[in-house]
Amino acid sequence: MATTLAPDQLPALNNEEILRYSRHLIMPEVGMEGQQKLKAARVLCIGTGGLGSPLALYLAAAGVGTLGLVDFDVVDFTNLQRQIIHFTDDVGRPKLESARQKIAAINPFVNVKPFETKLTSQNALQIFSDFDIIVDGTDNFPTRFLVNDACVFTGKPNVYGSIFRFEGQASVFAAKDGPCYRCLYPEPPPPGLVPSCAEGGVLGILPGLVGLIQATEAIKLILGSGNPLIGRLLLVDALGMKFRELKLRKNPECVVCGTHPTVTKLIDYEEFCGLRGQEQPVNQNGVPEITVEELKQRMDAKQDFVLLDVRSPAEHDEVRKGRFCAAGCARTARIPDLQPQRPTDPAGRPAASRQ
Ligand code: ZN
Repeated sequence: MATTLAPDQLPALNNEEILRYSRHLIMPEVGMEGQQKLKAARVLCIGTGGLGSPLALYLAAAGVGTLGLVDFDVVDFTNLQRQIIHFTDDVGRPKLESARQKIAAINPFVNVKPFETKLTSQNALQIFSDFDIIVDGTDNFPTRFLVNDACVFTGKPNVYGSIFRFEGQASVFAAKDGPCYRCLYPEPPPPGLVPSCAEGGVLGILPGLVGLIQATEAIKLILGSGNPLIGRLLLVDALGMKFRELKLRKNPECVVCGTHPTVTKLIDYEEFCGLRGQEQPVNQNGVPEITVEELKQRMDAKQDFVLLDVRSPAEHDEVRKGRFCAAGCARTARIPDLQPQRPTDPAGRPAASRQ
């Protein structure tokens, strides 16, 4: 949490830093000592996506001395609507490389420690050991539970945020005497019940809002001032523009932070959460898929099959815009046309599947 260094052990600021942080230095709540605490702080951001982008930029601009970044993804066009640390020219580049470059441009005094890896039960404790505060910017349940448990085991605060469509949540978990994520959610939801942002969408601005609440909490923890979100879950409703708050209590029965914990080491979180805990293609049910091109070939070859179109209206619109022009030529079946006894094609595949 707040640095344990005595004031005379805190790193000094050079003249350029004094100028750069002058608006902080004149605030009584920050001042020279607070700015030195920020410089001494080591904050680990898990993910440089929607939440991680604004977080990392603002923490860097504020003068957090060491910023760890964990990500193994590559910038994609669909990221640009909200992941503001990545620019159009970065599409195809590793996110870490892109983020590191932007942070250096915004504040060259920040020491960036990149970890180009997936956070796992094998590496989490080792990676966490070099940091004071962990900020969770992930978008999947396995990593969220992993981050929580690793924070409890290492005694580091977990600055949590999550987003979906117009709604977000933020809290500070696993701080000394405060509840952890598992006090609130002991078990992950059943696989597939909670859609990911890739499936359900997210308002591009929302991770900015929630990510900056997380960044604010991280700064407050470093300064050791204010009233952090420990024991409080902040609920953000961007559509109604309402902020509500739920009181959270530490659960004495909690399996990781309770008085008699049953989980005492990191587990297999993929298995714990089920396969659908992560953002990945929807085809996790073993049903084979064919591409639009394959479908077009079959239609051109006048193969005999029934095409069942299960696209959503939005996906159908993409066809109209010409993105999937091959499927646009398809003649689709009506329910009464479907014959349960009709065989699948010779390859044993269904006649067509969702695109
Ligand atoms: Zn707990």
